[in-house]
Amino acid sequence: MTRAVVIGLGGLGCPAALGLAESGIGELLLVDPDTVELSNLQRQVLYRTADVGRAKVEVATQRLSESFSGLRVEGRRVHLGAANARELLRGADVVVDCTDDPGSRFIVNDVGLELGIPTVLGGVLQFDGLVLAVSGHSGPCFRCLFEVPPPTEEARRCGEAGVLGPLCGVVGHLQAQRAWGLVSGHAAAQTGFVTTVDGLRGRIRDVPLPEATDCPACGGLAARLDITPYSCPMTYVRTRLALETLNPGQTLDIVMRRGEPSRNVPRNLLDEGHDVLINGAVDDGRHRVVVRRVC
Ligand SMILES: [Zn+2]
Repeated sequence: MTRAVVIGLGGLGCPAALGLAESGIGELLLVDPDTVELSNLQRQVLYRTADVGRAKVEVATQRLSESFSGLRVEGRRVHLGAANARELLRGADVVVDCTDDPGSRFIVNDVGLELGIPTVLGGVLQFDGLVLAVSGHSGPCFRCLFEVPPPTEEARRCGEAGVLGPLCGVVGHLQAQRAWGLVSGHAAAQTGFVTTVDGLRGRIRDVPLPEATDCPACGGLAARLDITPYSCPMTYVRTRLALETLNPGQTLDIVMRRGEPSRNVPRNLLDEGHDVLINGAVDDGRHRVVVRRVC
């Protein structure tokens, strides 16, 4: 069953969660720390006046369960941060970030790449919207576009600038469509560009986004290798063959079974002098190693 996580249940999260439910996704985890306020109702379409004061995750879970009988919805009333992001994202097939917190987008981007989970990031400010889908295995990613989060003061000013209500519906639904594409065999068509939505002129454009080779999150990733079906010595042989196709300095992202391969593959790579950049569990059964070819 396909599982999506929606971070933030405001102006983008409400239409995004609705869009995912409409697309027939099996499981939704909704994450938001806030309660419904009267000022939310104009664009946060899952809530009504009688819901003011209730937790957004509670109301949204109830509304979606009522409308989509086959959908399994779960809510977590927490703020996503660096400390709990891995726990919240683990096991997801796709994650949609709908917060108005730029810091959250960086965390979702980085943890998605670390765990191999595709992500869809969205934002709106006044009359402009933006959507970016990241494959989860390679760039380009959000950090190729913006290197670091803006200072807190700047982010606060953006939050106070307001947003055109209908634009939230467009961007949130576009995020749901990208998420559906990423999990339904159309991933390549969703990534490699940024979609900009011009709310004043009513124009939607896809702008190509080159992978920044010095990007700290995805930079230089040249290839991906799945050796989960193999045991020793084929795990070693497959890894060696893949590394030989790369130039020195390029990185290879390898997913393998936990246990014997996850002990031996990174040790062999280190013994041969390569840089092991990431070495950790993806989930209960899988392990991920990212290695940079040195020689
Ligand atoms: Zn990147």
